[in-house]
Amino acid sequence: MYGWKDNIRRVRPYIPGEQPELKDMIKLNTNENPYPPAPAVEWILRGYDAEELNRYPDPSATLLVDAIARRYDLRREEVFVGVGSDDVLAMSFMTFFHSNRPLLFPDISYSFYDVWAETFDIPYRKIPLDDHFEIHSEDYAGENGGIIIPNPNAPTGIDAGQEKLEQIIRANPNAVVIIDEAYVDFGAVSLLPLIDRYDNLLVVQTFSKSRALAGSRIGFAMGNPELIRALWDVRNSFNSYTMDRITQKLGAASIEDEEYFQVQLARVVASREWTKKELRRLGFYFPDSRTNFIFARHERLPAIEIFHALKEAGILVRHFALPKIDNYLRISIGTDQQMQDMIRFLDHYLADH
Ligand code: PMP
Repeated sequence: MYGWKDNIRRVRPYIPGEQPELKDMIKLNTNENPYPPAPAVEWILRGYDAEELNRYPDPSATLLVDAIARRYDLRREEVFVGVGSDDVLAMSFMTFFHSNRPLLFPDISYSFYDVWAETFDIPYRKIPLDDHFEIHSEDYAGENGGIIIPNPNAPTGIDAGQEKLEQIIRANPNAVVIIDEAYVDFGAVSLLPLIDRYDNLLVVQTFSKSRALAGSRIGFAMGNPELIRALWDVRNSFNSYTMDRITQKLGAASIEDEEYFQVQLARVVASREWTKKELRRLGFYFPDSRTNFIFARHERLPAIEIFHALKEAGILVRHFALPKIDNYLRISIGTDQQMQDMIRFLDHYLADH
């Protein structure tokens, strides 16, 4: 018997971190920014004229694209925007990895990559990181249909550095190489200056972490105009009005406030460095993080046990039940107060266990 059930596309979805709406929970599980977005975001929302919502938004999001172009000293033609970098990355998978050759990415990286590859029927091969979670450029020299690497890597927090990544881009002129820089503003080096030199390089960033706008969903890609044009074409063959009017305004206002951005970034980085010191004192090991999270294992106790103890105490971190990393916790950087509360709890807990 043939039925409608045979026509359903079956997929294995990405599982996002929990979003419990509990007021006094210390939420350190999805790498959000603990501070509010730039003050202008609130002014715009308060003064917003709802009347204009009868009109469709600008499909090219020109206001936002131009604000991003100004901030990064680019031309409008070098910028694509989407509804979070998840949207930008999904569009990029559809646009650039349309090949029978395998897409390459590190075996430990953003777990959405496998999901998109499967959803869009893209063959892929995961390249193992070494025992210290480091990338080796020569591993990406084989035949491939594209490459995607998060830098700094997630969930390890490691910055591979420009040299290694540039070698990969240079060795693969026939494939698009995407560098997913979701966390770059917290202290890593961006490859953006290289887009003029390499026409196969696409740099993707987001407003969700460093600009504290995860709730608005804004991501963007920067690259040479031919790549950017191809992205808009695929987006426009899918849904032309993905980003709403309010979000376009909020994004533009947010990126224009450079001073707030820098102050708020410095606070997160200072809390991270303090937390590193304290975690080390408590017997945790972790690669040096250039992000707004720390990926740590304890010298004695299994990660899953600490995860549950923290959760019971109202502190939510992320644990991945995946090979090679299931003894690690990914701890997002919150406010100083939140980090102090977490360390105080761990201090007591580890003394008794
Ligand atoms: N890339 C990486 C490496 C991430 O960790 C995330 C956050 N989950 C994203 C992209 C997507 O972020 P967003 O869609 O909020 O921009």
